[in-house]
Amino acid sequence: MKNEQLRRLLEAAAQRSIAYLEELNERSVAPSPEAISQLEAFDVPFPEQPGDPETVLRELDEFGSPATIAISGSRFFGFVIGGSLPAALASSWLAGAWDQNSALHNVTPVTATLEQVALLWLLDIFGLPPTCAGSFVTGATVANFTALAAARNAVLAKAGWNVEADGMFGAPPITVVIGEEAHPTLLKSLGMLGLGRNRVVRVPVDDQGRMRADALPPLSQPCIVCTQVGNVNTGAIDPVAEICDYANRADAWVHVDGAFGLWAKAVPSLSHLVEGVEKADSWATDAHKWLNVPYDSGLAFVRDADALRAAMAITAEYLPTESDRRNPSDFTPELSRRGRGIEVWAALRSLGRSGLSNLVERTCRHARQFAEGLSEAGYEVLNEVVLNQVLVSFGDPETTRRVIAAVQEDGTCWCGGTEWQGRTAMRISVSSWATTERDVKRSLEAILLCAEKYR
Ligand SMILES: *Cc1c(COP(=O)(O)O)cnc(C)c1O
Repeated sequence: MKNEQLRRLLEAAAQRSIAYLEELNERSVAPSPEAISQLEAFDVPFPEQPGDPETVLRELDEFGSPATIAISGSRFFGFVIGGSLPAALASSWLAGAWDQNSALHNVTPVTATLEQVALLWLLDIFGLPPTCAGSFVTGATVANFTALAAARNAVLAKAGWNVEADGMFGAPPITVVIGEEAHPTLLKSLGMLGLGRNRVVRVPVDDQGRMRADALPPLSQPCIVCTQVGNVNTGAIDPVAEICDYANRADAWVHVDGAFGLWAKAVPSLSHLVEGVEKADSWATDAHKWLNVPYDSGLAFVRDADALRAAMAITAEYLPTESDRRNPSDFTPELSRRGRGIEVWAALRSLGRSGLSNLVERTCRHARQFAEGLSEAGYEVLNEVVLNQVLVSFGDPETTRRVIAAVQEDGTCWCGGTEWQGRTAMRISVSSWATTERDVKRSLEAILLCAEKYR
């Protein structure tokens, strides 16, 4: 392909992306049934002949764009899903052009350097020691997996067992303690590590889903306690400091699944909610949720850098390297991977401390605005709105489910459903940088109109 053709193609991609984003907030958040049925256009046999790249792009845009759900718009409130900050999206385009395999410092120094810088910024934001090791992975599921692999290494090493070399068969059994409300992906991580989804000790939770520190079992080594900062339904935060004080007496490893809640640490007015999380041994969080970088992007931090390195480096055990440079692949499950730290760096660089704090605080304020509007209209908000999550019931389970379906069909905004401690609820999660007070007002009006129909 000649330079001229490449330029035309990439300019077409930029123009189509810009047009997509400019129209996004004018259309229904959920794709229409017609747009979804148009996806059949992709269902063709593998082409025998090469296709023109501009045609490939056109097909994607014509049939793909209308069938997207407007996650990067300003009124998507499903799951816990952020959009993409402008600086993060733009740098993602450039990073795509760079196409850096980000395993080794001496091969891809720019991505390794950006990750190193972003890592130190992140440790500063979360109030963690700058000596912690960190990994840039795909999401909180893999961040939990990565951090817990370090935990598994460390607690078994203390018991005289080298788990990387000798595996789990015959290893001293590890007691794994979790809260009743642990995220299902945490259990998946435990399963992948051979620690078992079911052979865990479950600690009861309170009415917000917080692990009850007073209900912790007696602990003895080797032991890993998994706490949660930000319940996916309520936003509630485990009493991590108290749990750490208790677990430290038994020399247990404490892990924090802080997929979104950990970001409360970036806000002076919220940081009291997560006071003491720095006492733990490892932490997992997402960047593609509250930091608003493109998928996929998760982060793991581990106090004992050698434990993470022993679990993840290809040499299996810690080997001093010739240089003191950080090789990203010594800390991640992957060897080859995209330089996702670029977007994390760009997001942090563009927000700065005040911008990050403002983003997190603003979305929490929007959540409270939703909760107040719904309560005032006579609907029951089921949770204490401590962060960006709101759970609302519109009456009996069937009515609530009908309202959720109506909200999704209406298309002004998008909210999902859940079951919370025996109640059926609609979840509103405000995680996007793009949401404004006007968006909240408009969405609230649409939700109340849908709810009125079934009152
Ligand atoms: C979202 C979430 C996860 C899973 O994160 P992914 O990025 O989807 O892998 C894990 N734990 C908690 C508490 C979450 O909110």
